[in-house]
Amino acid sequence: MDADIERVLWTAEEIADRISALGAQISKDFRRLPSPVIVVGVATGAFLFLADIVRQITLPIAVDFIRAESYGSGTNANGAPIISCDLKLDINEKHVILVEDIVESGATLSCLISHLKSKGACSISVCTLLDKPARRRVHFELVGDGKFYCGFECPDEFVVGYGLDLAELYRNLTYIGVLKPEKYN
Ligand code: 5GP
Ligand code: MG
Ligand code: MG
Repeated sequence: MDADIERVLWTAEEIADRISALGAQISKDFRRLPSPVIVVGVATGAFLFLADIVRQITLPIAVDFIRAESYGSGTNANGAPIISCDLKLDINEKHVILVEDIVESGATLSCLISHLKSKGACSISVCTLLDKPARRRVHFELVGDGKFYCGFECPDEFVVGYGLDLAELYRNLTYIGVLKPEKYN
């Protein structure tokens, strides 16, 4: 375990098992669609989750990235998020699955969903590895017959690892954990 980590919440094995189950569920729910589903990873945090989940989806899919940023630093994002790097693919009349690392306030997701909706997606689903419902303050609505997939419910703590950072560090940890208190200051 990394010396900066106080406690592991989900091991690499637990993450992999959960992703297999999510991938199987998505493959089942989206089978027999007329066109490939567009799987959109939210950079940077979702990069490992995206890489792992797409390999568990047994359907034709296309992959793209989008980036949303909120001004703020450390463990608190404040202000409305903006799309700072847009899609390459045309999603008009396509089914989209947004792949996120974590949903906290819901502000990022709400911004991303309205953006993708304005580009004409016929359905927008969300697949987030973690959901931290204790911090929700912005309501978001899925589009069309979009579904919500979640890997794990996250306790009300700031977590790092498996894509999730603190000031761009710790993304490469294979597990998700909580840092030692002194690292947050
Ligand atoms: P939102 O509050 O808009 O739902 O989440 C915004 C972003 O804040 C997430 O996509 C994620 O990048 C970051 N975030 C929220 N909670 C955590 C956390 O516990 N750990 C880390 N590393 N990032 C978080
Ligand atoms: Mg994110
Ligand atoms: Mg971050």
